[in-house]
Amino acid sequence: MPTLADLENSTEFLARHLGPREAEQASMLNAIAADGAALPSRRALVEAIVPGAIARTQAMDLPAPVTEAQALAELKAIAGKNQVLKSYIGQGYHGTLTPGVILRNILENPAWYTAYTPYQAEISQGRMEALINFQTMVTDLTGMDMANASMLDEATAAAEAMTLAARAGKSKSTRFVVAHDVLPQSLEVIRTRAKPLGITVDVVHCTELAANLAATPAFGVLLQYPGVNGQVRDLRPLIAATHAAGALAIVAADLLALTLLTPPGELGADIALGSTQRFGMPMGAGGPHAAYLACKDAFKRSLPGRIVGVSVDAHGAPAYRLALQTREQHIRREKATSNICTAQVLPAVVASMYAVYHGPVGLKRIAERVARYTAIFAAGLKQLGHTLLHDTAFDTLQVALPDTAHRDRLLAAAVAAGCNLRAASADTVSVSLDETTTRADLQTLWRLFAQLAGRTERPSVEALAETPALLPAELMRSSAYLTHPVFNTHHSETEMLRYIRQLSDKDLALDRSMIPLGSCTMKLNATSEMIPITWPEFAGVHPFAPADQLAGYTELNELLTGWLVQATGYAGISLQPNAGSQGEYAGLLAIMAWHASRGEGHRKICLIPESAHGTNPASAQMVGMQVVVVKCDANGSVDLDDLQAKCEKHAANLAAIMITYPSTYGVFEPRVKELCAMVHRFGGRVYVDGANMNALVGIAAPGEFGGDVSHLNLHKTFCIPHGGGGPGVGPVCVVEDLVPFLPGHATAGQVREGGVGAVSAAPLGNAAVLPISWMYIRMMGADGLTAATETAILNANYVAARLAGHYDIHFSGGSEVVKGGGVAHECILDLRPLKDATGVSAEDVAKRLIDYGFHAPTLSFPVAGTLMVEPTESEPLAELDRFCNAMIAIREEIRQVEAGALPREDNPLKNAPHTAASLLASDWAHAYSREMAAYPVNSLRAGKYWSPVGRVDNVYGDRNLFCSCVPVGLSE
Ligand SMILES: *Cc1c(COP(=O)(O)O)cnc(C)c1O
Repeated sequence: MPTLADLENSTEFLARHLGPREAEQASMLNAIAADGAALPSRRALVEAIVPGAIARTQAMDLPAPVTEAQALAELKAIAGKNQVLKSYIGQGYHGTLTPGVILRNILENPAWYTAYTPYQAEISQGRMEALINFQTMVTDLTGMDMANASMLDEATAAAEAMTLAARAGKSKSTRFVVAHDVLPQSLEVIRTRAKPLGITVDVVHCTELAANLAATPAFGVLLQYPGVNGQVRDLRPLIAATHAAGALAIVAADLLALTLLTPPGELGADIALGSTQRFGMPMGAGGPHAAYLACKDAFKRSLPGRIVGVSVDAHGAPAYRLALQTREQHIRREKATSNICTAQVLPAVVASMYAVYHGPVGLKRIAERVARYTAIFAAGLKQLGHTLLHDTAFDTLQVALPDTAHRDRLLAAAVAAGCNLRAASADTVSVSLDETTTRADLQTLWRLFAQLAGRTERPSVEALAETPALLPAELMRSSAYLTHPVFNTHHSETEMLRYIRQLSDKDLALDRSMIPLGSCTMKLNATSEMIPITWPEFAGVHPFAPADQLAGYTELNELLTGWLVQATGYAGISLQPNAGSQGEYAGLLAIMAWHASRGEGHRKICLIPESAHGTNPASAQMVGMQVVVVKCDANGSVDLDDLQAKCEKHAANLAAIMITYPSTYGVFEPRVKELCAMVHRFGGRVYVDGANMNALVGIAAPGEFGGDVSHLNLHKTFCIPHGGGGPGVGPVCVVEDLVPFLPGHATAGQVREGGVGAVSAAPLGNAAVLPISWMYIRMMGADGLTAATETAILNANYVAARLAGHYDIHFSGGSEVVKGGGVAHECILDLRPLKDATGVSAEDVAKRLIDYGFHAPTLSFPVAGTLMVEPTESEPLAELDRFCNAMIAIREEIRQVEAGALPREDNPLKNAPHTAASLLASDWAHAYSREMAAYPVNSLRAGKYWSPVGRVDNVYGDRNLFCSCVPVGLSE
């Protein structure tokens, strides 16, 4: 008879998270075992692969796992500790109504949220169309020439704009000027970014800007439009003064306001930026939201971040792909224009769809309503005898109060009435209205202000209904926007639903097939993990609401960081960075600040192995470190002799080394402890890039084997979906003596003395997606997480063993009981010998996999001409076999090219992927059959993914750069 505990099945989720069944694992282990050797268990495999020297000394101390239903109930109780008040705080975060059709069919739809970054253009046409809509929306509304596809948040976009201006402008000055009414969190992030780069940041009142610039040069000026306290200022004189001083003008602008106001581009701005949050993304305590960055044509090649462009496919039809990739960190490394890798694609898609659904007319109506309510509210406040500080406004009013005591009394009364106002200064409050504001809300607000003024009468919305907006006449927008048909077609819910479906049908995401991307860990994003992110208790909270209203988030933060401390062996963790790259940046800042605190601020050399991910050198460059490359051996392991030599040479100035563990080749370098000790001996700190934590959790902890700092990618190891390229969360983890140097957040009242300042706009970064990782760990427990790591290693070794007779596998392990020596959680297939023999490249294989219904493995990282396969623990044996069978069938095709049975230039690999249209054309002039093109294996007849476009031409697109919606006619 089973025990009651068996029936309660508290590990039910583990069985759902892992792909291979218990019963299948024995046969997989048999396939992996070297000839004559035995692998009795998964544990035996792991012990054969992972060096004993780095093994954890203690198991992780985590709560015992609970079922999906119980975890949801526990989290609901935590969420309930947040108080969701109506927010009038503004300051870059506004209430918004996510249209149901977008909420359910994008934000909550795995076809959108489980997709990867659109590097494989052919299987990403749907989300790239959504992103080109985003870029078009931004360029139209801002009046700029060119926009990228999404930034991490408004504050980091402002910091990127500053460095863009420094790079692209002609000024030699190192001074950056920020207007007095810029969002305080943007200023804070700018200051953090500026310091290590030697940029001086000065805050100047707008009224003094012209004189100030005439007296002291600057390379850039940041203005906010409208200002944080609501004033709508004519920026033209300020921009003219900026240009006269030889500086570039940057405008942070509210997109909703720009439907009514003359856009920054027409005011003369060189760069524009801002948040798209209020276009349908909940506030979520600060993120995730897509920010935007746009610029004049002249700066387009310096613009950081991803840009989607239009190119043509092999048949001459228009097709999208990521443009100008040569600017990006993975190519340019320390010379990259930024270190952004994971961005905010899913929130950008939501924002673009919000614009598609509402269209220019709908958006303008929303903006006019907000502006009208604001004017009505202002008129009522005046009736009540209140004084407003500005006579212009879009959505925000700043109200003068007698003193701080009155201000505090009003704020408290507001909270009691269920709303948050903003303390704009010691004796003023500001009130920001938004899309969700109603007549009843105005009555509530008036009542509060009336009571404060001791007045009994109440203004009437009806009586004031026709009060004109407080927008200055000389700033009213006359230019058209969002004129493209895509913004003027899908306005009924039926059409919108179908448009969303039509786009997602073009793409391959995890809801269709495995995505074996090495280094990216495309594992299961379980539905029960995803459910909480749109709970109003998490989604409805403003990041700068009073701290006691965020108690649920505080508890979530404490629990999650405590668990991650267990997983990593570190002493302190900040969840603020909103991508791995940002975690790297925050970690390197901590190292720099630690050196400086010891009077060793001159230590600026950062050693980076040549096999490192591109964000590593790009991050080092961002903190003003100087990158010195360390050699690797053929195995991808750090060459310790070269390391010794570089340490000696740079002993006086050594700041840090950045390694990845297991390495980007998937190698558990056995001498990693020695490596760490060596760098420590020379006074440097060890940064361990934690992107490969999926090979370590429960088995080894970087904080124990010698790391001083790591970042995690919660969107890899801890189940946050990739969202088509974001959002991510990149916690920065440090040992004890570096804890004081973790990022703080003064804007949110979280000051760390001597700390490095804020790295994100919101104190908890992409707070609203943290429940996903919480749910994962809560449902897995310590044993479950360890089982996941072991299974990830099992799956990777199984794929390596099955493909070994067909491809050159880069076996990295030295085990005698595992075939070839074994691999970690991923394996590299070397296609270079085949290219030499047949002309078939790794890219051809990647594209041919599309015909077989698969997303390609990671292409040409960490070694050009290779494919890196990471199956993760979540893929079932049947799917692993389907993938291996596809790879083996492709190898057969290559053999036919090798044997001369297929021409080198006309074969199914070179012409992949094959579209239905090309197969149905009346003339088929290829050297192989249509059947071979479309149905190379029989299983495809049961269900086939059809690539919507043929092979996309990258070079054409970069030569003819075009980054907005394709004009109608061209697309026919
Ligand atoms: C993914 C990855 C990064 C960057 O992380 P993002 O979240 O994309 O910024 C850094 N290093 C390695 C090895 C990675 O795989």
